[in-house]
Amino acid sequence: MPVPHPATSRPRAVIVGGSLGGLFAAVSLRAIGWEVQVFERSAGMPDSRGGGIVLQPEVEAVFDFGQVPHAVPLGVMSRERIYLNLQDEIVSRALMPQMQTSWNTLHGSLRRALPDGVLQAGERLLRFEQEGARVTAHFASGRVEQADLLIGADGSRSTVRRQLLPQVAPAYAGYVAWRGLAAEHGLPAQLHEKLADSFAFQQGTDHMLLEYLVPGENESTQPGQRRRNWVWYRKVAPGADLAQALTDRAGVAHEFSLPPGAMRPEAVAALRRDAAQLLAPSFAQLVEATPEPFVQAILDMQVPQMVFGRVLLVGDAASVPRPHTAGGAAKAAANALTLARSLRSAGADAGIDAALARWQKQALRHGMQMSEWGIALGERIMDLAPGASDDGPRAGMF
Ligand SMILES: Cc1cc2nc3c(=O)[nH]c(=O)nc-3n(C[C@H](O)[C@H](O)[C@H](O)COP(=O)(O)OP(=O)(O)OC[C@H]3O[C@@H](n4cnc5c(N)ncnc54)[C@H](O)[C@@H]3O)c2cc1C
Repeated sequence: MPVPHPATSRPRAVIVGGSLGGLFAAVSLRAIGWEVQVFERSAGMPDSRGGGIVLQPEVEAVFDFGQVPHAVPLGVMSRERIYLNLQDEIVSRALMPQMQTSWNTLHGSLRRALPDGVLQAGERLLRFEQEGARVTAHFASGRVEQADLLIGADGSRSTVRRQLLPQVAPAYAGYVAWRGLAAEHGLPAQLHEKLADSFAFQQGTDHMLLEYLVPGENESTQPGQRRRNWVWYRKVAPGADLAQALTDRAGVAHEFSLPPGAMRPEAVAALRRDAAQLLAPSFAQLVEATPEPFVQAILDMQVPQMVFGRVLLVGDAASVPRPHTAGGAAKAAANALTLARSLRSAGADAGIDAALARWQKQALRHGMQMSEWGIALGERIMDLAPGASDDGPRAGMF
């Protein structure tokens, strides 16, 4: 029988990781009547991957399924895609309406949809064990939790995955994303005129920058209160160069990313100098005006299996598609939604196991397709022939 929870006889899931993947799973499983608790290691806001998110239909589908109240609109529309060259001229323009939102807008809506006590902050999973259909999770605080299902939504460096598949680790793809958010109201007028409400790009040799408007820190989509989100992909050699890019202002070396506020002042200054040299003036101004740029190494990672008895992996813990797909959050949302739909008609015990097996088939296929697509896009963006700088669009890329 499913593990009885003191307050209820409903099946129970323990979710490790309180970022988007974990909260998508929480609202989806609650919608089918499961008892859910989310354990996030960060004491305050999770170590957010921050920044802008292209709003994909899968995210909206989870919001509908989980009846997550949210602001309308959930993001900011861009009307067209433009490409700038080094001289700040628009060299290409294509009508392509789409909506962009931000990590904090999605996370805020999901968090507010969960009753008090569902999200437990400051709880770091150390390990788990399984006995039959029962999983026991052990946390650094000494807390011990039991459940019918343990969901690893703990990101690319997942503790859950490390216990299940110690041989699987993310591989560095050879380039990083420097990222930033700048408040709209502080930016020069000519920058607004040039970029307006476009999804704007610059394709250079070995680098590409993209930029779009997202909601403000307070989730407002009102003109003047929004932010401009930018992502600048650049090659950084593995080894000493990468290690230096990922060393924070306290001298601590990080494995894959530095959050906003952690970059060394001299690294921020170097980034701004490079921007002035390599980027269109509008983009260079944007980098200059960004108070806390941050950096993420681009990774490739795909597990061969997502279900291990009553423990499963979702979101970035299972596979990391390159960001050119603009689909990591969407994949995490799809994982949650398809899991809830599979489990809805499962009943207990063997029914749950059969539902998980069905779910794994489609979730694995989806992850692999996204990974392959992202690698193909990334290789094309970053491996340009020498001299092919300041080009026009390269179809389908973000
Ligand atoms: C440059 C860039 C741009 C992107 N743009 C887009 C986009 O436009 N659209 C899109 O859909 N996606 C985008 N993504 C991807 C997206 O950000 C992620 O795929 C998505 O947020 C899913 O993340 P997750 O919740 O699975 O993992 P994460 O966000 O990494 O969260 C994992 C959480 O688990 C917690 N955790 C880790 N270990 C433990 C532990 N032992 N115990 C408890 N908690 C733990 C962490 O603190 C963290 O909060 C982008 C990614 C990058 C790098």
